[in-house]
Amino acid sequence: MTTVGWIGLGHMGAPMASRLADAGHTLNIYNRSREKADTLAGAGVTIRDSPKEVAGQSDVIFIMLSDANALNAVLGGNDGVLAALSPGKIVVSMSTIAPVDSIAFAKLVEEKGGQYLDAPVSGSVGAAQAGQLVILAGGDATIVDACQPYLDLLGKGTIRFGAAGMGSSAKLAINLLLGVMGQGIGEAVLFAEKLGVDKEKMLELIATSALNSPFFQLKREMYVTNEFPAAFMVELMSKDLGLVKAEADRMKGVFPLAEAADITYRRAKEHGKAKLDVAAVYLELKDQNDR
Ligand code: NAP
Repeated sequence: MTTVGWIGLGHMGAPMASRLADAGHTLNIYNRSREKADTLAGAGVTIRDSPKEVAGQSDVIFIMLSDANALNAVLGGNDGVLAALSPGKIVVSMSTIAPVDSIAFAKLVEEKGGQYLDAPVSGSVGAAQAGQLVILAGGDATIVDACQPYLDLLGKGTIRFGAAGMGSSAKLAINLLLGVMGQGIGEAVLFAEKLGVDKEKMLELIATSALNSPFFQLKREMYVTNEFPAAFMVELMSKDLGLVKAEADRMKGVFPLAEAADITYRRAKEHGKAKLDVAAVYLELKDQNDR
């Protein structure tokens, strides 16, 4: 039976790895901060001391880290994944990174004889816990097929976008929409409040209008309580909008909403809201309006 490796046990990685373990897969796990791995240890789950050990002991290695710098850190070096890769092993990269970085990582893995799947996800912590993510696959069909049983435990669907890098391209596009929607909801709620509209009634209006969405429903209570515990952190949204901007600049494109959202989330990050949920962009807008 195939042995699975999992590197990265943050907000998303931990519930995703748990789903594979709960389904009975034998798991080798690693997280830079060991205490997060400790909470997952149990029957069939072994904590390894390095990414290299995970790769050495596993046939399919899932990686779910913050960004490309983190991926570089776990792939390279004497203790990295690449040091233990051999033909037949598959690396599944699920982080949100630039398409160009995904293509470069695919090349590094293939140089070692391994296979690489670009597989970022749409959906947040709740969807990760429930196995309801959408997987945005970029890679050879045979690799996607080989990984499909695992992807089916993590998500409600896999959309195949083509070669490595294309999953990441689609992911940046959906997160452009996420950033704009988050700012749009924040602005509408705040604008209503400024006009003297009761906030909870405004939230009820959005919920019963054609503009309701699963995204709004996930965040609605945060606007009520004014507390924004992170499912998806402002700093990660800002990272993604930075990646969108880099692509837009590269193609000399005009994407005004993405540009506005990039500025707002960056300010939210710089003004002490980095670790709060994306919906906390509302707090940043409030601060700017109250100044
Ligand atoms: P997170 O909670 O911040 O977890 C980040 C993980 O990366 C942790 O395991 C962290 O290790 C590790 N890490 C960071 N820098 C590292 C380095 N230099 N070397 C080794 N490990 C490093 O992030 P998350 O919310 O799980 O998100 C993970 C990825 O999924 C991101 O690319 C994000 O954009 C994407 N994503 C997130 C959501 C969401 O709703 N949260 C939804 C879709 C996609 P430590 O524990 O040691 O810090």
